[in-house]
Amino acid sequence: MTGKSLVVLVAVHAVLAGAAIGTATAGVEKLYVLDCGQNLGKDQSRWSPGVNEGKPIEFSDNCYLIRHDKGILLWDTGIPDSVAAMPDGMVVANGAITYRRLKTLASQLDQIGVKPSDVTYVAVSHTHGDHVGNVPLFPTSTVLIQTAEYEWAMAGPAKPAFVTTQKIQKLSGDHDVFGDGSVKIISTPGHTPGHQSLLVSLPKTGWLLLSGDAVHFQDNWTHKRVPSMNVNRDQTLASLKRIETLLEERKAQLWINHDKPQTATLKHAPNYYE
Ligand SMILES: [Zn+2]
Repeated sequence: MTGKSLVVLVAVHAVLAGAAIGTATAGVEKLYVLDCGQNLGKDQSRWSPGVNEGKPIEFSDNCYLIRHDKGILLWDTGIPDSVAAMPDGMVVANGAITYRRLKTLASQLDQIGVKPSDVTYVAVSHTHGDHVGNVPLFPTSTVLIQTAEYEWAMAGPAKPAFVTTQKIQKLSGDHDVFGDGSVKIISTPGHTPGHQSLLVSLPKTGWLLLSGDAVHFQDNWTHKRVPSMNVNRDQTLASLKRIETLLEERKAQLWINHDKPQTATLKHAPNYYE
């Protein structure tokens, strides 16, 4: 055996051994669940037509920070940090919803040692105010948004959904964020024209699907209900079907962003999932 082939053989062995015990596999290192506010809805039936009419509902609102060996992705930015200083919260949607924030996104990032300038990508599930409230906190990050969403919410005659100076990367459908299949944006239109969800592979936890607002809470998922404010009912139902197929294929968990009881079962930052 020549010296050179020995070196190659040793290198191959190192890669195989690393892969077998998981140390050399690139990909997601940590996922943090951040508290990005609460939405108090006056009438649940806004999201579940005909069901629980006139009954209030409280939604959780999460942001998710994913540390990958090639960079950091923040999925959604939540309710504006400024709401944390408002004792009565912020009333939106003609009084139908009140936003509250117990702690800021900035303080939670600080607590886990992440500076806004460390965040490579900020991806927004869609452009509603409880998801894009803190995009301007990340002036050096690249924003990942569907072209259809951008044109609907940012480029039309109405005021843009968020003010941005960042580089915007407009997507047309699914997108493999780090190029290795471990963090994939999945096109799930219907709630808004360019709504998207996120499929993540964690080394210990396995596959997760972060819903965005493709579905708002468990009972709506079970009954495949379409909220009244969704822009397209058929697209919504097709997106729910697509999510169901992905969950089966990957044996993935569905994390429903606005489902308060489910969110209460999750570890929050500074704890994390691996
Ligand atoms: Zn929302």
